[in-house]
Amino acid sequence: MKKILLLLICLLAHLAEGQKDRYTLVLHGGAGNRLTPKKLSAEKRTQYHKAMTEALEQGAAVLDTGGKAADAVVACLSVLENSPLFNAGRGSVLTWNGKVSMDASLMIGRGQRAGAVAGLSCIKNPIQAARTVEQYSRHVLLSGAGADRFAIEKGLTRVDSNYLVLPQRLKQLKSYKKRYGASESRPANSPGKMGTVGCAVRDRQGRLAAGTSTGGMMGKRHGRVGDSPLIGAGTYAHDSTVAVSCTGHGEYFIRYAIAHSLHSRMQHRGESGAAAAQHLLHETLQPGAGDGGLIGVSHTGEIIMEFNTKGMLRGYLREGAPAKTAIFKEERLE
Ligand code: ASP
Repeated sequence: MKKILLLLICLLAHLAEGQKDRYTLVLHGGAGNRLTPKKLSAEKRTQYHKAMTEALEQGAAVLDTGGKAADAVVACLSVLENSPLFNAGRGSVLTWNGKVSMDASLMIGRGQRAGAVAGLSCIKNPIQAARTVEQYSRHVLLSGAGADRFAIEKGLTRVDSNYLVLPQRLKQLKSYKKRYGASESRPANSPGKMGTVGCAVRDRQGRLAAGTSTGGMMGKRHGRVGDSPLIGAGTYAHDSTVAVSCTGHGEYFIRYAIAHSLHSRMQHRGESGAAAAQHLLHETLQPGAGDGGLIGVSHTGEIIMEFNTKGMLRGYLREGAPAKTAIFKEERLE
């Protein structure tokens, strides 16, 4: 009897260990109040699910071959940046003067390493530029022409506005201007649907990393920088707590340092990721003012997905199981 019990304990310990060593990827493709079953066609839904699944699988492929959490974040987000469906890379929203100005950041939870870029104008994959800054620069955040130049020097693919600026974005900008009047100084409003992309990963070694990439907010003033490239606001990772990426009305995420606050609440108050995210999205950021959401993965593999809008494009993949994706509030993933 004693022997059987011992064997059982060993087996359970082994299973728990196996569980611990499995990787987890979580992503978002933006949050918004127009993400409702009524407003989103069946065709568009299918396209979103397909793109998010592909992104998760690309990230998983990196981890399957022994890649690190940060590499998986870059692989996953590159897929979404290349898709015109999202507000990042190709398909970014436009500034008041009809240009793209892309922001991205990446953080690694071990050693607090980070890289970020703001106001890129001609780089195909801003998340790769953020990774390059993290790897090869003694700085954390590069902006504007200097950031473009650094990425080009490091061999990243350069593209022109024919690739980045999509006709449907020009149309959206036109109607945005019509709706909000002719003054560029007007603050960017929170639109109905955003499309920033973000990813958080816990790899087999328990390393955490998170990244975020965006075109920002439609009609933003030239030079405006949102939360996405700001470590602590739009992105954060710490191996003892969580890796997190935010999406939403950036000005509010900056003011409340939302990404770092998630880490802080978990570390100092001992809250679960879900409880901390719930508080930040629904109490710190009042709905209607700081619209948005966040995704993350904790050091124990807890998946966090919270938003105060009607929907958030989101999904996750746990090693050994197929990817799961969702769009609307009513959809349950776990
Ligand atoms: N947070 C982004 C920004 O303010 C926008 C978004 O997430 O949709 O630039």
